[in-house]
Amino acid sequence: MNSLSDFTLIIIRLWIWLFLLAAVFVPLERVFTLRSQRIFRQSIWTDIGYYFLSSLCSALLLGAPLALVSQASQAILPSFVGSTLDSWPLWLKVVLSLVIGDIGYYWSHRLAHEIPLLWRFHSIHHAPTELDWLVNTHGHPVDILFTRFCALLPLSVLGLGNLAGSAPDGSSSSALFLEILTLVGTIWGFFIHANLRWRVRPLEQLLTTPAFHHWHHTNDGPALINKNYAAMFPFIDRIFGSFYLPSDHRSESFGLAEEIPTGFIDELLHPFETQTSNSSQS
Ligand SMILES: [Zn+2]
Ligand SMILES: [Zn+2]
Repeated sequence: MNSLSDFTLIIIRLWIWLFLLAAVFVPLERVFTLRSQRIFRQSIWTDIGYYFLSSLCSALLLGAPLALVSQASQAILPSFVGSTLDSWPLWLKVVLSLVIGDIGYYWSHRLAHEIPLLWRFHSIHHAPTELDWLVNTHGHPVDILFTRFCALLPLSVLGLGNLAGSAPDGSSSSALFLEILTLVGTIWGFFIHANLRWRVRPLEQLLTTPAFHHWHHTNDGPALINKNYAAMFPFIDRIFGSFYLPSDHRSESFGLAEEIPTGFIDELLHPFETQTSNSSQS
């Protein structure tokens, strides 16, 4: 298979994933709406642009460095580490990988809020003032590559899998383990952004939900920002002191206190053009 047909296959897979995700989340958001807003809301085409750009960047750029890390760590790590992990049942490896990956994600995400250079790129994800499932894709590719690499890095070090070609990005991996892991993580990212009023109170202490992640996008005031960095496991925020999930109300507004340009091209160029202050998020 040549590189052109590989590229075409990735694009076709991305379209199929986009329609499948829309087929799940659009009806759910119509039935269990949190806030009344149009399906074709402001910046939806920008988000679709980000969806393709970030997925392609991840599929094309993350594989090689993660494979290198994996090979290097296999040469360094004691062999019992790999053999011990291999002997564990699939479900345990999936849970362990999701937790370890989320710790990597937590810290890269937190640093993206705390380091001004990284915030220039990550602030793009916080620009939308309306949240729904597709806002999951609204991120600068540099930011997406950084956080995804940091989430996958510890997994590669431990030999738990080179996940660079995640499913919506057009993975060619057929390993059941990687398929399950990638599918769960990807769909969860869309879920926690969804415009859903659900509160699953016993579960929301265990797993992240829209209520949890919407607080991460809040624009309700400086006291409430920089909370809830984890993608899947709220206990990571509890451990590191950034957990916030009131039981009786939801975030009133979303977006940034600071002004940044809107639109696909302007947002892509923005981190390179200006020194964005993260004072509103720090
Ligand atoms: Zn953030
Ligand atoms: Zn988000």
